[in-house]
Amino acid sequence: MKDGLCRVVRIAQRVKAQGGEVRSPFLRSFRGYGTHQDRQLPIAAFVTRSQWSSTSSDSDDVPKILPPPQNWSDHDTRNTLHHPLRHACMNIIRQVAGTQADLPTPSAPTLTPSYLLTSYTLFLTHEPCIMCTMALLHSRVKDVFYVFPMPQTGGCGGLVKESVPGLRGVNHRFGIFRWKEELLAELGVQGTGTELSVDPTLDV
Ligand SMILES: [Zn+2]
Repeated sequence: MKDGLCRVVRIAQRVKAQGGEVRSPFLRSFRGYGTHQDRQLPIAAFVTRSQWSSTSSDSDDVPKILPPPQNWSDHDTRNTLHHPLRHACMNIIRQVAGTQADLPTPSAPTLTPSYLLTSYTLFLTHEPCIMCTMALLHSRVKDVFYVFPMPQTGGCGGLVKESVPGLRGVNHRFGIFRWKEELLAELGVQGTGTELSVDPTLDV
C-alpha cells in the first residue's frame, strides 16, 4: 500500500514540477502557450494488482484465472489537452482498456467475466469525482486509496457522504481508503500540503 501511495504522490509532484505543456501545435498557436490554464494539474493515478487489497469487494468478481500483473500510471491532462474529461482516473482507465484490448480472448469456459479493473487496486492523489467514481464502479476496481479529500465534488465520501459505491442498488462495491496527508511524511514524502492542492470546486 505504501509503495503505491508513494508512487502516485511522486508522479503528481513531478507533474507539478514540469508544469506541463500544450501538446497540440494548433492549440499552442490558437490558445496562447504558457497561460495558467495550460498548466497540468498535480493529480495522479496509479493502478496495480496488490496482495494487500482488502476483502471488502465482491469475491465473485475475481476471475478464476487472473491475467499477468501489470501496472499503469497516468495524470490529469484536461488543461494541456483542452479536454474536460481527461481526469487522471479516466485517463488511466482508458490506458488499461487500450492495453487489454490487445490481449487474446480467454477461452476457458469456467472463467468468470473480468472487467477492466477486476482485482486491481487504484491509488489516487485526490478523491475521484462522481463521474470517475462511477467509471471505477463500472470497471469493477477492487480498492481505491487516495490522499486528499474533495469535500465539494468527491464521489467516495466527499460530496456523496455514503460514497457512490455505497448507494443502494449499485451492482458493485469497492473498498475506499483515505491516507491522511500528515502521514505522508512517514512514507518519506514531504511538502505535499500546498504543493498538490487544487481548486476545491474542481471535479477531479
Ligand atoms: Zn473525475
